[in-house]
Amino acid sequence: MNHIPILGVVGARPNFMKMAPIARLLQNHRRFKLTLVHTGQHYASMSDPFFRELGLPTPDYHLKIGSTSAAEQIGLVITRLVPILRKVKPRLVLVVGDVTSTLASALAAHKLGIAVGHVESGLRSFDETMPEEINRRLTDSISDFCFTHSPEADVHLRREGIQGKRIHRVGNLMIDTLLRLQPIARRSRIQEQLKLKRNGYALLTLHRPSNVDHEEDLRKFASLLEKIGQLIPVVFPIHPRTVQSAQRFGIWDPPPVALRLIEPLGYLDFLKLQEDARFVMTDSGGVQEESTVLGVPCLTLRDNTERPATIRRGTNRLAGTNQKNIIAHVHRLLSGDLPRRRVPPLWDGRSAQRLLDVIEKSFPGD
Ligand code: UDP
Repeated sequence: MNHIPILGVVGARPNFMKMAPIARLLQNHRRFKLTLVHTGQHYASMSDPFFRELGLPTPDYHLKIGSTSAAEQIGLVITRLVPILRKVKPRLVLVVGDVTSTLASALAAHKLGIAVGHVESGLRSFDETMPEEINRRLTDSISDFCFTHSPEADVHLRREGIQGKRIHRVGNLMIDTLLRLQPIARRSRIQEQLKLKRNGYALLTLHRPSNVDHEEDLRKFASLLEKIGQLIPVVFPIHPRTVQSAQRFGIWDPPPVALRLIEPLGYLDFLKLQEDARFVMTDSGGVQEESTVLGVPCLTLRDNTERPATIRRGTNRLAGTNQKNIIAHVHRLLSGDLPRRRVPPLWDGRSAQRLLDVIEKSFPGD
């Protein structure tokens, strides 16, 4: 029997965790064959180690588009992906998340008349200044399969006129990866290496353009973190985007003692630090979801979130960007006022299988 070709696209760090469980299920699949394309939207240090740790196969094609402007990235992805699509002739192109590559690959496939499946569809922050929000909306509008992870995602899609038969609630694929690798992450030695004690530190990630691109905003965070650092040590694996801003503005040179600035971590080390943190502070989408499943309190340093399920059911609190409010949230957590943990339904480690069930039914074979 001829295999049905499917092409999966990844481009940046948060994509890898979502594609990994699909790639695993499609390895040696009796009906489907996965071709994996890496657009190379991110710095290599934020990419290569993840392939090893997550067990992602080496990409069949690497587009090497690099960190240029989003508009140029879109142009480069389309130009370089189209010949591959013509050669591989996939019946379905799977894209994940909300990065520039996600939108560009979906567009390339759609224009060639190839079905598009969007993993993590329907998330909305309703903040159109976020590049990701535009990527999500546009990708969903041209996706034939909208794979969602929460009821509100389905509601958003329906409101935008996407018919119910295109919407498939399969759950959270990122959590498939987390639950599979959690036992291995628990063996990480990162805490010993950093001389940290379980529950004795807060873990921070910060890289959204709205928080780090402008000097005033980043200075505000620097001063806030100095204050939080006096209450509890803060470990900060710093994203290259934030490093660039900090260098440009002369911030954290040198960093205050209680702020442990370290290189971005691999997935397993980061998961270990997350699970054992007293609490997490973040502007990342994925970290809000992971901390909810781990049951670790999370303060989201943004004024909105596209992941309300992590607040409604999980351990996330929208702390905003106002210094006073954030410090008040930190005091609440340190005094033992902790959010309850309830994991959203279908964040259970079996989402990729449900996604594959949908695909199997939709492409019954030649
Ligand atoms: N992550 C990681 N190392 C780090 C920081 C984050 O492996 O130093 C992982 C984290 O566990 C999650 C993903 O990266 O799985 C989130 O990616 P990111 O914050 O870059 O993107 P976002 O979720 O905001 O789109």
